[in-house]
Amino acid sequence: MKAWPGVIEQYREFLPVSDRTPIVTLREGNTPLVPAPRLAEATDPSLSIYLKCEGFNPTGSFKDRGMTMAMSKALEAGSRAVICASTGNTSASAAAYAARAGLKAFVMVPKGAIALGKLSQAAIHGAKVLMVDGNFDQALSIVRQISETHPVTLVNSVNPFRLEGQKTGAFEVVDQLGRAPDYHLIPVGNAGNITAYWRGYREYQRAGRMSELPRMVGFQAAGAAPIYENRVIEEPRTVATAIKIGNPASWGPALEALKDSKGWIDIVTDEEILQAYRLLAREEGIFMEPASAATVAGLIKTVKAGRFESGATLVLTLTGHGLKDPDTALESASRPTTVPPAIDAVLAQLGL
Ligand SMILES: *Cc1c(COP(=O)(O)O)cnc(C)c1O
Repeated sequence: MKAWPGVIEQYREFLPVSDRTPIVTLREGNTPLVPAPRLAEATDPSLSIYLKCEGFNPTGSFKDRGMTMAMSKALEAGSRAVICASTGNTSASAAAYAARAGLKAFVMVPKGAIALGKLSQAAIHGAKVLMVDGNFDQALSIVRQISETHPVTLVNSVNPFRLEGQKTGAFEVVDQLGRAPDYHLIPVGNAGNITAYWRGYREYQRAGRMSELPRMVGFQAAGAAPIYENRVIEEPRTVATAIKIGNPASWGPALEALKDSKGWIDIVTDEEILQAYRLLAREEGIFMEPASAATVAGLIKTVKAGRFESGATLVLTLTGHGLKDPDTALESASRPTTVPPAIDAVLAQLGL
């Protein structure tokens, strides 16, 4: 079997690269599409539910698909440094791919609103990490301005190469499933990924690799739902820090994706997110971060509302790994019990 070459080599004909593009890759992509029978049982057993587990990318989130493109193109253009604002995963991915490329990375994250695992990744890969005493939207505005006036490449999803790389997620779903799903469910923060998936499906259809397009269904956290509420949220709030965004950069394109695909956007509460987070871990053995669980929460809500027809095939993008955010995991689960080193004491706890 041939080794997986990473998303650029695998899908080169669909991507804006040439022989002169130096490919920066950590062999991202090829993430598993895992059937979720327990989730179907718990919601509607007639559904075929699949989980696209993007947490198994090299830095633990789908951001790597976009970063391999953004970093390769930055290197091709002769850039020496990259910059981004991030709720965490973009900074982790940018730091790792910049290290790989030999570029300097500057990352700006909102103080007190970034999961521990993500911060540790940016730090260990050698990025210069700045914590802004403000939110993500403010940080993005700052790095955008700096990249316009200084010799540093912006690698947020407003960098067009990011979405080009991220559309490979849709290619893989079709390659793995043999078709597109009827519905594609996805969390929405800055709204780049829903835009990228939709682009990927359309391009794959045009290339004759699939026939029917899916309907795109996005989910925002109730306290950070600018697209759903059709207004900028000045102070977004949610436990799902990766989608804690009040003014999404890809707002317009996301609306187009929803409209063109006859999809829709909905909200889920933090309580619903955390319930789904535990359910996914306990019933399916899959540990994904809270923003990813928003999709599962959305699935549960939508099935209850009776919006999926019987027998439909659903793919849920689970965007990032649970280990990114160990604090939320520990707060959401029962605490370990301390026991003395004695068999009787241990047995008393086990109830065997
Ligand atoms: C970035 C991210 C999102 C949101 O994706 P957008 O493209 O910003 O909508 C969701 N979940 C995780 C884990 C992320 O890292």
